[in-house]
Amino acid sequence: MEVKQHTDHIELEETLLKRIGQIADRDAVRAFVVGGYVRDLLLGRHVTDIDIVVVGDGVAFARKVAEVFGRANLVVYETFGTAMLTLNEAKVEFVGARKESYSKESRKPAVATGTLEDDLSRRDFTVNAIAASLNADTYGHVEDPFDGQGDMRKRMLRTPLEPTATFDDDPLRIMRAMRFAAQLEFEVDPAVLGAAREMANRLSIVSQERVSEEFLKTLKSRKPSIGLQLMFDTGVLRVVFPEVAQMAGVDQRKDHHHKDVFRHTLQVLDKVCQATDNVWLRLAALLHDVAKPRTKAFVEGTGWTFHGHEEVGARMIKPMFKRMRLPMEHVNYVEKIVRLHLRPMALVDEGVSDSAVRRLLYEAGEDIDDLMRLCRADITSKNVRLVEQVRKNYEYVASRMEEIEKKDKIRNWQPPLRGEEIMEICGLPQSPMVGILKDKVTDAILDGLIPNEHDAAKAFLLSIKDEVIKGPAIKRPRRSDLGVLDDPTS
Ligand code: ATP
Ligand code: MG
Repeated sequence: MEVKQHTDHIELEETLLKRIGQIADRDAVRAFVVGGYVRDLLLGRHVTDIDIVVVGDGVAFARKVAEVFGRANLVVYETFGTAMLTLNEAKVEFVGARKESYSKESRKPAVATGTLEDDLSRRDFTVNAIAASLNADTYGHVEDPFDGQGDMRKRMLRTPLEPTATFDDDPLRIMRAMRFAAQLEFEVDPAVLGAAREMANRLSIVSQERVSEEFLKTLKSRKPSIGLQLMFDTGVLRVVFPEVAQMAGVDQRKDHHHKDVFRHTLQVLDKVCQATDNVWLRLAALLHDVAKPRTKAFVEGTGWTFHGHEEVGARMIKPMFKRMRLPMEHVNYVEKIVRLHLRPMALVDEGVSDSAVRRLLYEAGEDIDDLMRLCRADITSKNVRLVEQVRKNYEYVASRMEEIEKKDKIRNWQPPLRGEEIMEICGLPQSPMVGILKDKVTDAILDGLIPNEHDAAKAFLLSIKDEVIKGPAIKRPRRSDLGVLDDPTS
């Protein structure tokens, strides 16, 4: 990211912006492009959405623009006095320059029209408070009353006003500070950090959707640990994601291992980010050891242990998704990765038998490669020989997986007997017993006892059903339920 020398003029190439400027000229209003677009252009980053501020009625201007472009897709947010239009695949947001801040009680935006500078002063950071004129007479002229460009050169996030005043107006800006620090790899001004620390609790009044959006944007950055460490240091993490903050256990006894879990997790997360852009795998990496604080026990002679943390952690995922209002379509994936994260390592201890590999391939399915990505990132030991050994072990596991997958095609495999057929053959109603029988058949195939064929499966079912149905209805425990897995790499 090369920061250009201070400029009072920028090249705005877009025909789109020029046309918006012409509409403003015809309408006799001053219009500016502002915020992220200008910031990213000056930083030489990839520019995404366009924010337009007009001195006057932003919504009325947006309606004009939509009309001139012949678009019917204008979305007006009356309560916020903003409007959004999608033009040439770019999202263009319009707002009128405003003077007053949100009223704290009603959360209704004040309608008072302000000057451009009033509007810029109400923005979150100086680097986001730079505007460039769109009117023909001053096209590209930069307005930078808070020296955002100076802060860009210093790679510094500073608020246009006193930080406490800026955060008081909208506490989400505290999260945005951490997000931009990670995304832009900028420092955060100490006064801003101080205000964040002081006001972290105010984040609890902000809507969960807005908080989670900033959290995910932090996770999407190249090195999310930058933002997460700041969130932790300021007490923000304790408010927005207590389970993650607890991995550092600061409010517990002097206890080294706890702190290590958080530090280890950040290292794993940054490492996995080099291997994937998938934010859900990144989230799984953040949460893979989330249950360590609640499963830890001190065993004389062994030290701290975390038996069953992968299963306990997996069961924490859904409640966290619900509370954070994260999209539920990804919950099973994250849960699965957390649940299975020690299994490839356990395979090595078991001698990487065909049946154990088949079982893991079956349970991980399509997500096996992501699981292996996390496992490889999960090696953070300082012991070079151990690291090398673990790396080799994973390589061996991966090659065995490839071999067995080629032979047995387990990843997308469905057991040859479906639930309905088992019910029919055994004369059973829908009940847990059907699942138990299905598991037995599946196990027999994965263990190589019977071939992966319908008739063989049926014959096997007939041979075991009476005894199984007579026996106690115990569902096969997941291997991780047995609490025998522990993590040698962290
Ligand atoms: P990106 O689009 O990459 O997430 P951005 O800076 O464009 O970053 P947006 O959320 O799109 O962020 O907001 C656009 C602009 O609106 C910001 O640059 C900033 O000037 C202003 N802004 C957005 N949210 C806030 C807020 N909560 N408080 C103050 N200003 C804000
Ligand atoms: Mg934006």
